[in-house]
Amino acid sequence: MAQALSLSIVVPCFNEEEVLPEAARRLDALLNDLTASGLIAEGRVYFVDDGSTDRTWDLIDQLAVSSPRVHGIKLSRNCGHQRALLAGLLRAPGDAVVSVDADLQDDLEAIKEMLAAHAAGAEIVYGVRRHRQTDTWFKRLSAEAYYSLLRTIGVQLIFNHADYRLLGRRAIEALRSYNETNLFLRGVIPQLGFRSALVYYDRRERFAGVSKYPFSKMVALAIEGITSFSDVPLKLITILGLLISLASFGLAIWALWVRITNPAAVPGWASIVIPLYMLGGIQLLCMGVIGQYVVKIYAETKSRPRFIIEKEL
Ligand code: UDP
Ligand code: MG
Repeated sequence: MAQALSLSIVVPCFNEEEVLPEAARRLDALLNDLTASGLIAEGRVYFVDDGSTDRTWDLIDQLAVSSPRVHGIKLSRNCGHQRALLAGLLRAPGDAVVSVDADLQDDLEAIKEMLAAHAAGAEIVYGVRRHRQTDTWFKRLSAEAYYSLLRTIGVQLIFNHADYRLLGRRAIEALRSYNETNLFLRGVIPQLGFRSALVYYDRRERFAGVSKYPFSKMVALAIEGITSFSDVPLKLITILGLLISLASFGLAIWALWVRITNPAAVPGWASIVIPLYMLGGIQLLCMGVIGQYVVKIYAETKSRPRFIIEKEL
């Protein structure tokens, strides 16, 4: 098995005071277990406080004082789950880094299998949910439809995998060179290449507290996934534009034909007004989508830092 592997576990936390003590306790027990069984030589936990407004940082501070294995990274403001995660991944040392949510929904036992897969040569090990029974029907339906949609438009993506995964040192160093501001890790990681493996696990209910991913954040992440990795929406617009142009052309010929063959034809306002509205609407829609991409170019060219670390323990 793995020889003298050092492991870091990165946990993004946003207002997680309710789950943090329990999460720390379970992670500590897991690290003890892994060290005792010789799967790892040493283990650390990195809690990334994503600008929490509750006692999250105080708790991390206390945990770091009482355990040499616990470390904290405090972001100066709420940067969002993806960036908080990136901050942790890029700062945490170790031969392998596992990322997991603070709410204990993902079965920590899967880390053992991830380590085994890593020892067997996989540089990236994806945690994949076996089922979605703990989700509401809405979340399950929307998530599955979304994953399928992304696949259809050509985004490389692991089905039913969120951000529970193991990354080897080489994968993390590769990730470091991705400088994009619009971050969708689930899309970036498969692009890194390397040998990968899947580990299946069951996802439970949140241990305590409420989801820190309200509907608005979910939609934002979904749009990020599409516009950061696919230009299919732009291609569809081009095709739509082409079809409408052809249809309008056909309409024009027909109108001309009626005018020539029927001298009594009364020029109808409908044939003028309908295409006018139709084209106006479609143009607006197209401009909106193109705008989405322009907004991204704008953000990328500014190359703002993606996170700012306030302090580290
Ligand atoms: N999170 C974060 N910043 C945010 C929102 C969420 O760091 O702005 C963290 C949160 O603390 C948790 C993880 O991201 O550890 C996943 O969030 P949550 O469990 O609320 O999402 P859900 O499981 O409901 O999709
Ligand atoms: Mg959760």
